[in-house]
Amino acid sequence: MALKLYNTLTQKMETVQPHHGAPLGMYTCGPTVYDFAHLGNFRTFIFQDLLRRYLKYKKTPLLHVMNITDVDDKIINNARAAGMSIQDYMAGYSDAFFVDMERLRVKRPDIVPYATQHIPEMIELILKLRERGHTYERDGSTYFRISSFAGYGKLSHLDRSTIETEGRVDADEYSKENPRDFVLWKARKPEEPYWDSPLGPGRPGWHIECSAMSMKYLGETFDLHCGGVDLIFPHHENEIAQSEGATGFPFVRHWIHSEFLIVEGERMSKSKGNFYTLRDLLQQGYNPIAVRYLLQSVNYRRQLNFTFDGIQQSQAALQRVNDFLLRVREIPSGRPENPVFDERLAQARADFEAAMDDDLNVSGATAALFELVKDANPLLERQELGPLNRDHILDFFSGANSIFDVFQIEQRELPDAQIERLIEERAHARRERNYRRADEIRDLLARSGIILEDTKEGTRWKALN
Ligand SMILES: [Zn+2]
Repeated sequence: MALKLYNTLTQKMETVQPHHGAPLGMYTCGPTVYDFAHLGNFRTFIFQDLLRRYLKYKKTPLLHVMNITDVDDKIINNARAAGMSIQDYMAGYSDAFFVDMERLRVKRPDIVPYATQHIPEMIELILKLRERGHTYERDGSTYFRISSFAGYGKLSHLDRSTIETEGRVDADEYSKENPRDFVLWKARKPEEPYWDSPLGPGRPGWHIECSAMSMKYLGETFDLHCGGVDLIFPHHENEIAQSEGATGFPFVRHWIHSEFLIVEGERMSKSKGNFYTLRDLLQQGYNPIAVRYLLQSVNYRRQLNFTFDGIQQSQAALQRVNDFLLRVREIPSGRPENPVFDERLAQARADFEAAMDDDLNVSGATAALFELVKDANPLLERQELGPLNRDHILDFFSGANSIFDVFQIEQRELPDAQIERLIEERAHARRERNYRRADEIRDLLARSGIILEDTKEGTRWKALN
């Protein structure tokens, strides 16, 4: 069976497969590194990680590119407010982003291009658009004229008149011909970073970054482009206009968008006090693995309601599976095999893969796992599973875990004494105010399924397996 995903462009479920034996090219709009990423951002990145890991599970070769936006109004303003150089300000948040991604076990994309290292490619693309009559200049800035691109609106399925009347006019962009025309190159402003170019001194607009960097690494036409639904319009619509306007070829075959995350039923916002970064949750003692489990538990095309109950339930669900796996590992050699159970297992595997092939239906796939646990538990109880059954169960769960990365398949590597030693070292590091080392130790333990709880009496730990 092949993987089918919903394509925002065609509004159909479509098979995802490599063309002419080349690896699938996948581009992800990465973070703008002006602050810590929040849970909504991580839902999107975890979904992309899931997609990438499932393609790997299916042995589909893939090249994954994710950009980092490191020049942007917010970065410039925040750096100035913090009295820091843009470079230093940005580097701190960029590092923090990858630390958080690692805590959530999100694999690093194959190529991570930074916008400021690809300015010549962006300029070249804008010059091509200028040559083909898609641009105009006002006060030193260069804009894309959307009326010059017939396909404008094809991704968001908005009709032309809606797009043009709902246009918002930015205060500093009053001179545009059409409110929806967007900036490709921003004229230099005092005290802002700029680059010299045939377009005049200035810096790139946000949209052009993604067109230039995706096509540089994946070619003029590539397979998969992912992002949150909030990027469909105008960002991805603009990417299409820029790329196809410059090359004349289709830009992306398959557009995949993940839905919003809400918190306790409400839109996440700083003013409502329900705005969470991963760091906020870790500070409250939640395990990043349970957070990962929760963030990937709902199909990407459905809104995810993040609740604190939900994290507790995720923790309990993980515990259930890990307890089961522990008992499976303990099945001794020499116990008779159960051939009927192997058929049951084959069914579970088929159900699991059918669900994942169906637009990454994670809830269907996890249901296949939990049903199997439910059916196997009484057999374990009655000692009716043998060592081959054991190996087959562990093989199935380790395949599923190569995608979800939340279960404890193997024996915990850290013996209790070593855990105690690390907790001691962490307490010492905290007394010395070496919080970096203290966090490192907490992360190290979390990766082995050990959760720490700091209480007045000291640090307690419990194992997820
Ligand atoms: Zn983008």
